[in-house]
Amino acid sequence: MLYDVIIIGNGPAGLTAAIYGMRAGLKTLVLSDNPMSGGQIATTYEVDNYPGLPKIGGMELGDKFEEHAKALGAEFRQASVSSIEDHGDTKVVVTDKENLETKTVVISIGADHSKLGVPGEKELTGMGVSYCATCDGAFFRNRVVAVVGGGDVALEDAIFLSRFASKVYLIHRRDAFRGAMVLQEQVKANEKIEIIYDTVVDEVVGKDAVECLRLSNKKTGEQCELPVNGVFMAVGTKPNVVGIQGLPEQDEKGYLVAGEDCATSIPGIYAAGDVRTKQLRQVITAAADGANAITSIEKYLNGQK
Ligand SMILES: Cc1cc2nc3c(=O)[nH]c(=O)nc-3n(C[C@H](O)[C@H](O)[C@H](O)COP(=O)(O)OP(=O)(O)OC[C@H]3O[C@@H](n4cnc5c(N)ncnc54)[C@H](O)[C@@H]3O)c2cc1C
Repeated sequence: MLYDVIIIGNGPAGLTAAIYGMRAGLKTLVLSDNPMSGGQIATTYEVDNYPGLPKIGGMELGDKFEEHAKALGAEFRQASVSSIEDHGDTKVVVTDKENLETKTVVISIGADHSKLGVPGEKELTGMGVSYCATCDGAFFRNRVVAVVGGGDVALEDAIFLSRFASKVYLIHRRDAFRGAMVLQEQVKANEKIEIIYDTVVDEVVGKDAVECLRLSNKKTGEQCELPVNGVFMAVGTKPNVVGIQGLPEQDEKGYLVAGEDCATSIPGIYAAGDVRTKQLRQVITAAADGANAITSIEKYLNGQK
């Protein structure tokens, strides 16, 4: 079986590519290692910035995308991709189950949260250590939490958590934030949020749940323990590229280098969604990439590119 397009990943980018692929009359297969449709978005409680669907549940949005692609006839298989072989006009996608042949590939494998890498973080994940304020914030109603980070996500998380928690510490390793000024102003005006500058987390401490954070001030060297019930890590994301051979050109962080047309350094292989170099990683930009990748593929298959 020779597919026109194999899409790797069933997040918003991959599922939108599947919809556009089927509507373009392409023989389309979606591969994913994730049994839940929607990728990352399925892990969030609510999405309130996808146009036309205010306050939709993350899982519901993912299901809607997949139902749409399936209704148009896209084929789905659960498999983990370990390699993409470029044989010119055809490509071979190697999975843990089989090798599949295709004319083109859309890589839409998304990104993942970076870890702080301190003792106790891994052990207490799910027991007070979280990477998703939207998912877990409500569990910390009237409790004390910390957010670690200094970008937009950390600032947004602190504001969001202040709706539930009795107190939010925002711990940043520098003396100024990188995040948007409007968010900085909101954080500073929020009485529940206390900013701790120039400080790093050395350890997350707790037996069956987070009890406190061991902190060091980078300027003074002073160490202290901060009692908290939860800690939200907002220290960035990284692309899900580890363990996959044959990928096209990547930037210094591992993101696949591609512009709005999603074309990569390998003809016939496209990168869509959070995994590609881009300004904004959101559902709407991932979905837009899925559409653009298929438009580029149509041109490629027609010999226009
Ligand atoms: C907690 C949370 C809340 C968010 N809230 C919002 C929000 O409110 N609004 C918004 O617009 N965006 C939000 N986002 C961001 C949004 O979810 C992402 O930008 C979007 O999901 C990216 O889509 P994607 O298709 O590029 O990748 P993903 O959604 O990451 O999907 C990639 C898929 O590929 C699969 N995969 C990875 N590697 C392989 C492999 N080797 N083989 C096979 N399959 C593989 C993964 O398992 C996954 O299913 C949120 C993200 C998180 C984590």
